[in-house]
Amino acid sequence: MPQPIPKSDSLIDLFSLKGKVIVITGASGPRGMGIEAARGCAEMGADIAITYSSRKEGADKNVEELTKTYGTKVKAYKCDVADFASCEQLVNDVLKDFGHIDGFIANAGATADGGILESSKEEWDRVVQTDLNGTAYCAKAVGPHFKKQGHGSFVITASMSGHIANFPQEQTSYNVAKAGCIHMARSLANEWRDFARVNAISPGYIDTGLSDFIDQKTQDLWYSMVPMGRPGLAKELKAAYVYLISDASTYTTGADIVIDGGYTCR
Ligand code: NDP
Repeated sequence: MPQPIPKSDSLIDLFSLKGKVIVITGASGPRGMGIEAARGCAEMGADIAITYSSRKEGADKNVEELTKTYGTKVKAYKCDVADFASCEQLVNDVLKDFGHIDGFIANAGATADGGILESSKEEWDRVVQTDLNGTAYCAKAVGPHFKKQGHGSFVITASMSGHIANFPQEQTSYNVAKAGCIHMARSLANEWRDFARVNAISPGYIDTGLSDFIDQKTQDLWYSMVPMGRPGLAKELKAAYVYLISDASTYTTGADIVIDGGYTCR
């Protein structure tokens, strides 16, 4: 079995991440999913490795905040998930610095606006390479450690765009990559059944800055289509990350938690 049946019935024990090491890619933003997942895991006692690809300053700031607030060990690493060697280097460096890895949140992602006809081949490649192949590279890099260790939790930040084709904005590359991520969680859940659990989280519109390049009128149109009438905040997702990473979810694998204010229910 991937995770032993929990010894405790106490939710406080099950959600505790004391003694665990969690890697979170794409945690350089000030209000993104990555930093919120890190805040949640650190609050529950985990030591944290976060990654950035271009915003070193943002990652350093997040390390400072996490260390000061929660007092656990936190370190930032540069990693380009689109490059398999970089993902392997990340895992090796974290193992050298922390000794083991219990959970990995594959959260790094990129987006682009425009349909397949308007965007260049390079734009298509960039999004699919980062969001789909990058997630697979992270899994391939950390999987052998989970297997050797006999346990691990791999959580993928997918998207509601992996469930429905976003409209009216056209983001075919992103939709396709995120749909692949959801199915990757199911496929890996089977593949890794003896030693690790694999799950996805599919956020809806979340105000993280990722969509800041889209004009306000378009953003307002998107939000008017959300049954709950507003975009979500990344902090409204952190409990889901902690749940999937922790022993509170020892029988959960291959699942996808949709957190979208009801958008995909319409
Ligand atoms: P952020 O901009 O805060 O996070 C994106 C992160 O991905 C950044 O830390 C960025 O690093 C990193 N990143 C981008 N490209 C690469 C790469 N090639 N290698 C490594 N890291 C990379 O935005 P969000 O919090 O919104 O995004 C986090 C995840 O949530 C993404 O996977 C996104 O697709 C997903 N998501 C977001 C939604 C939203 O509405 N915001 C909705 C659904 C899903 P750096 O800045 O240092 O380059």
